[in-house]
Amino acid sequence: MDTTYTTQRKEYYEKNKERINEERRSRYLNDKEYRKNTINRNIQYYEKNKDKLYEKRKGYYIEYYQSLREYKITQQLARYHNIRKNVVKFLGEKCVKCGNSDFRVLQVDHVNGGGGKERKANKNYSHQLENIVKKNKENYQLLCANCNIIKIYENGEHKSKFSP
Ligand SMILES: [Zn+2]
Repeated sequence: MDTTYTTQRKEYYEKNKERINEERRSRYLNDKEYRKNTINRNIQYYEKNKDKLYEKRKGYYIEYYQSLREYKITQQLARYHNIRKNVVKFLGEKCVKCGNSDFRVLQVDHVNGGGGKERKANKNYSHQLENIVKKNKENYQLLCANCNIIKIYENGEHKSKFSP
């Protein structure tokens, strides 16, 4: 294949793109024979490159959905993190038992238990948490992870959740 010729043609096309496309368009609209040939050429091109085109399109879709999914997860996490921050602040920013104020270990505790039931009853519980806590302030407190587990053991709730 004469690459110089191909390159020259490409360069010519790039320089005169608008005019060439306009000519093609008007010819396509006005010249029945040209239109038929163009359509046939496109069909032939499609038939010949079907697999390649399919793979390419599939790649685009996969990439698109992956990035969409990542974006959604990031958004959800950011929203959840924000809610958690507000709730922790609202509830005093420290463990009511030992005073630990490390944000990473603070957990929202249902004072009289029943957190699981509430979780089930509320669709989208984690995103509703701020509203739920603010509405029923007296039912919630902050515990650090250690104190929370100790409470679970003391209440005998561990049997269903953890090994003895
Ligand atoms: Zn604690």
